[in-house]
Amino acid sequence: MNKKWYVGVDVGGTTIKLAFVTSQGEIVTKWEIPTNKMEDGKHITSEIGKSIEEKCEELGEKKDSLISIGLGAPGFINMETGFIYHAVNIGWRDFPLKDKLEKETGLTVTVDNDANIAALGEMWTGAGEGAKNLLCVTLGTGVGGGIITNGQIQHGVNGMAGEIGHYTSIPIGGAACNCGKTGCLETVASATGLARLAVESLEYHSESVLKAIFDKNAIITSKDVFEAAEAGDKLAVKVIEEVSFHLGLALANLANALNPEKIVLGGGVSKAGPLLLDPLEAQFKRFALDRVEEGCEFKIATLGNDAGVIGGAWLAKQG
Ligand SMILES: [Zn+2]
Repeated sequence: MNKKWYVGVDVGGTTIKLAFVTSQGEIVTKWEIPTNKMEDGKHITSEIGKSIEEKCEELGEKKDSLISIGLGAPGFINMETGFIYHAVNIGWRDFPLKDKLEKETGLTVTVDNDANIAALGEMWTGAGEGAKNLLCVTLGTGVGGGIITNGQIQHGVNGMAGEIGHYTSIPIGGAACNCGKTGCLETVASATGLARLAVESLEYHSESVLKAIFDKNAIITSKDVFEAAEAGDKLAVKVIEEVSFHLGLALANLANALNPEKIVLGGGVSKAGPLLLDPLEAQFKRFALDRVEEGCEFKIATLGNDAGVIGGAWLAKQG
């Protein structure tokens, strides 16, 4: 049996996504297993190995069909050694992920962080459409980022490149961020940040439909804000304008430095489509250099939850 498939693995706080992927980036099969966080996540590598073996059996394939593994994980990672310094959501601390998984599977393992493999996936078969200079931003519970230059994901000197979520948007008096600082882009442009801005404005906008939602549910979601904006609610529109301002400013400044061909937006907030994209592009145009803006196109990520496993396979393919 010839070797033919790469294994993409995307480790998250709740589930681990796995896929066998062809050298063209097509998913042969994909599946998920729960993330076993017991005993600081020490069983995860053996469970990944076992799951891969079971999937081979299920498909009637020998393990020889697999070429290598590319894996994305959250947290602070040494990409060269595949050593995880700290992954809060998983429980790993000083965990030799690459070595352990290589021992379990007998396959070469390449490791990168989860936002970076999602960016690589979008570059390979998603919204990147062959572009080699990309800025990828995931607007989810937090804000993640990946910077791809000449087809290569950028790591910087110690793996921190692409931490776009911690671009300082509000230098003085901003909300507290998970990183320990204040006023990061993540505090205004994530799903959580957007909802917080809406809640904070309710006091002055009791006429907003969001007020009734908040009184009923004691919470507002980003989805509530986009639905209200769609229906013409003034407060909701104002909140989205504020988010677009901060995001547009941050992306324009980054684009002026990086001159990307595409800016790919993923994550739950990006599903708002033109409601977010139109004001965002207007703000981007306002702050970006003309030639930077002319050369750059906004795209919504197309791979959804598959971006990580496809990017993992791309990483494996590079070896
Ligand atoms: Zn931060």
